[in-house]
Amino acid sequence: MILCGNRVHGHRRGLRVSRTLLSGNESVARGAWEAGAVVGVGYPGTPSTETLEHFAKLPDVYAEWTPNEKVAFEVAAGVSLAGSRVLVTMKHVGLNVAADPLFTLAYTGVRGGIVLLVADDPGMHSSQNEQDSHNYAAFARVPMVDPSDSAEALAFTRQAFEMSERFDLPVLVRSTVRVSHAKSLVDLGERVQLPEPAPYLSDPQKWVMMPAMATRRRLDLDRRISELREFAEETMLNCLELRNRSIGVVCAGACYLHVREALPDASTFKLGLTFPLSEQRLREFAASVERLYVVEEADDYFTRTVRSFGIEVEPLAIPKAGELTPGVIRSAFGILEPETREQETDLPGRSPLLCAGCPHRLVFYALRQADAVVTGDIGCYALGALKPLGAMDSCVCMGSSIGMAHGIELAGGVSGRPVVAVIGDSTFAHSGLTGLMNTVYNGGTGTILILDNRITAMTGHQGNPINGITLQKRPSREIDLEVLVRALGVERVRVENPHDLSATTAAIAEETASDQLSVIIFRAPCALLIREKADPYAVDEDACRKCGLCFRLGCPAISRNESTSQASIDTAACVGCGQCVEVCRYGAIVRSGSACDFRGAEG
Ligand code: SF4
Ligand code: SF4
Repeated sequence: MILCGNRVHGHRRGLRVSRTLLSGNESVARGAWEAGAVVGVGYPGTPSTETLEHFAKLPDVYAEWTPNEKVAFEVAAGVSLAGSRVLVTMKHVGLNVAADPLFTLAYTGVRGGIVLLVADDPGMHSSQNEQDSHNYAAFARVPMVDPSDSAEALAFTRQAFEMSERFDLPVLVRSTVRVSHAKSLVDLGERVQLPEPAPYLSDPQKWVMMPAMATRRRLDLDRRISELREFAEETMLNCLELRNRSIGVVCAGACYLHVREALPDASTFKLGLTFPLSEQRLREFAASVERLYVVEEADDYFTRTVRSFGIEVEPLAIPKAGELTPGVIRSAFGILEPETREQETDLPGRSPLLCAGCPHRLVFYALRQADAVVTGDIGCYALGALKPLGAMDSCVCMGSSIGMAHGIELAGGVSGRPVVAVIGDSTFAHSGLTGLMNTVYNGGTGTILILDNRITAMTGHQGNPINGITLQKRPSREIDLEVLVRALGVERVRVENPHDLSATTAAIAEETASDQLSVIIFRAPCALLIREKADPYAVDEDACRKCGLCFRLGCPAISRNESTSQASIDTAACVGCGQCVEVCRYGAIVRSGSACDFRGAEG
């Protein structure tokens, strides 16, 4: 027996115009578009990024990247206040940044519907931590829905806009890597034709959250949540599937799919509305099965909540760290894994590396040579922490590098070693600015390196205020980083070419020796922005002394020849940046091609 709406797409009968294959992210974008959202706004972050990129390509919408997630949510609040529907997108750590407006938007409520996609990353495929964003929904007291596949991502997003306006609250759509990136069939519908928003009327009792008004809105939030709890008992977002009654499993999102694969006979209560939970229907489900389990990732939010209703949940040894798989679930239920093909064990391990030709590789090489204590930041440049570069001491969150370097200085520094903060251009615009402002304001010193590669590279080449490229390629202005840094009060500012090792080394030495605050902007475009590949380099075997210095660059095109121990360059991978030439003391790295005689002389 199956009791729910969205899995059979019954609510969409009559709406379908075609069926196609979409990822979860694309489906959220499509759902927002079908719901009549006219604005999309967000900050790129894996696994959420493609959502806004897809939305931006749909007709009759405006979309923009903002410098950070807090700004994105504030822009969304303005769109809503003006009466239009708006989609906001970010990854889980971005919701930490946007938490300030989120909590107060629960008080103000909305005018036009606000739907916020938050994409969690259990297993930390591309994140600095694991978070279960269900906790945010419960903490801020805003409704949350969890689609488990693309069809639901579209349908739930569409419904989320209706819920947002009905309950006067922003609504969170929670996704995870598996839902965001997996593709499945969806039924496309038509875009609803919403009436023009009613004429704007100022309403400070609802929108000006100073104590007198906020106190009233706080009580009104209780009323809205109470109505939501009634809605939770009737909504078809939740899905009861009764099969074998000996085991009943409460689950949501991708975990539902894993449970279905691992325990195909088990009864399930798939939560689509994950805040607030449907207490009565959960109680009925628990009464209809012999043993009730909860399967969830990253935290025990559902288990705690179900137990808080006085419902008995069987203990289950499921690891809280990492991403769940059907195998992990089977193992927790004591079911032997089916035999699988023997895995290859002799494949070489590959750690992530800065790309061949990354313009900022030599900066990390020089920092290592300078024995600097490096506070790093989020983005491609976090890879400077990995061997063989090994030139980073910390990397905590977006924008943390500058504040942490200042903190080390406040604690007396590190004896005999310079302290350097390293941050990318996009991350500087996201939240490095305020850290720098603080250092200037409080008379701090130290050296800050802004690695400006003209793009937000790690998430797939999005624009940002520093390069002035907008999401829909509308006219814009790039912000002059040098002028900006000077305007913040930094007097020692210089711009250097990071492909030049001697200039890079000299700049770092001079600025770290200074007792003034200094900023070095190392500017060169991301290697992937350069379409024309220069002739690759090769190693002259007669000249190579096997010293291994070039290996310390960590360029993926350079390897050690197993039989000779000499360096070897993969000419297919080499982009001809020439950085290794700067490092080799024996002139053993030369341009390849017909003009090269492999004796160190280039024609
Ligand atoms: S740095 Fe030069 S001499 Fe040393 S291993 Fe590399 S290519 Fe050979
Ligand atoms: S020139 Fe050297 S550092 Fe640059 S991509 Fe080729 S092998 Fe790597």
